Amino acid sequence: MARVTLEGVGKIYPGNVRAVENFNLEIDNGEFVVMVGPSGCGKSTTLRMIAGLEEITEGTIKIGERVINDVPPKDRDIAMVFQNYALYPHMTVYDNMAFGLKLRKFKKAEIDQRVREASEILGIGELLDRRPKALSGGQRQRVAVGRAIVRKPAVFLFDEPLSNLDAKMRVQMRTEISRLHTRLETTMVYVTHDQVEAMTMGDRIVVMKDGFIQQVDAPTQLYDYPANIFVAGFIGTPPMNFFNTLLVREEGKLLLKEDTFAIETPAAWREALGPFVGKKVVFGVRPEHVGSPTAESTPGCPKIAAGVEVIEPMGAETYLYLNTGANDFIARVDSHRRSEVGEKIQVAVMIDKAHVFDPETTKIIV
Ligand code: ADP
Repeated sequence: MARVTLEGVGKIYPGNVRAVENFNLEIDNGEFVVMVGPSGCGKSTTLRMIAGLEEITEGTIKIGERVINDVPPKDRDIAMVFQNYALYPHMTVYDNMAFGLKLRKFKKAEIDQRVREASEILGIGELLDRRPKALSGGQRQRVAVGRAIVRKPAVFLFDEPLSNLDAKMRVQMRTEISRLHTRLETTMVYVTHDQVEAMTMGDRIVVMKDGFIQQVDAPTQLYDYPANIFVAGFIGTPPMNFFNTLLVREEGKLLLKEDTFAIETPAAWREALGPFVGKKVVFGVRPEHVGSPTAESTPGCPKIAAGVEVIEPMGAETYLYLNTGANDFIARVDSHRRSEVGEKIQVAVMIDKAHVFDPETTKIIV
């Protein structure tokens, strides 16, 4: 087990392509950190710099107390699991898992014990004599994870390991990797573009965009208090609704005004909103806080009038795609609520759960 520290880490690829800038993060001993962001945000580059597969242009990376900037990958005490599994096709499952240990001159008995232990943890004991082509995608991914486990590394690195699996298998492997982390208590750094994977697996999530860290936080904290419009829109499905509004003071109240509504803001927001009176602000509210059973039954929730454009019954709830006339938004309503396309309805907004952002800096105001 080890702590991983990145200080001022940056990467510029040949051709002056800036992939990562000023990346600072301390990953605790035994922590599961997920780096998430859209394609091209620099998350794989960061992981590959920790692994030693990419040179570090700026900054320092430490594993434990040791600076590893110039340490070859094989001496970093890490094991990496790749998206494409990277198994040797001509070797059996057993040999695939044993190979790295053989190279490191482990004794046969030790190798055997480690391979059997890992295959038992992963439930692939029956498959040890098969070759990769005789395995399903999920089984191959387990072998790739097994090959990492037998090394007993200080740090596991995962680079989009579930992207090649079908949706159902992804969900299953997700929980298996979480369980594995609980069992091994080893430091894990996991890269994905899938915010659901990030939310469900990480102790902490690092949200990246354009080579920069946007926010580092525990999943619920990230969800409840997004630092800016990007994080607010990236984490959560369906994503947060955004309304372009004008903040005005009327009769001592601060109102968020859109062409079709004026919503009174809570008194607790007054101080933070003060400097923005008379300015354009972005009002953000998650679909589950619009028209939900809790919103509708909470007294005093402001209402928005909107036309119903699309109805998506999800079973447990229904998504209504609505339009105020000026803005589109989504409401997650009770599955028994009756509505029709074209109908004009009123939906209650849980204003206490909503946010206001500064459109210039994109940062959260409240
Ligand atoms: P992500 O994993 O978030 O999709 P990457 O870390 O792979 O992003 O890439 C970050 C940026 O660096 C992208 O703009 C990408 O085009 C660029 N990049 C990645 N690898 C190379 C490379 N070998 N040479 C030049 N540019 C690269």
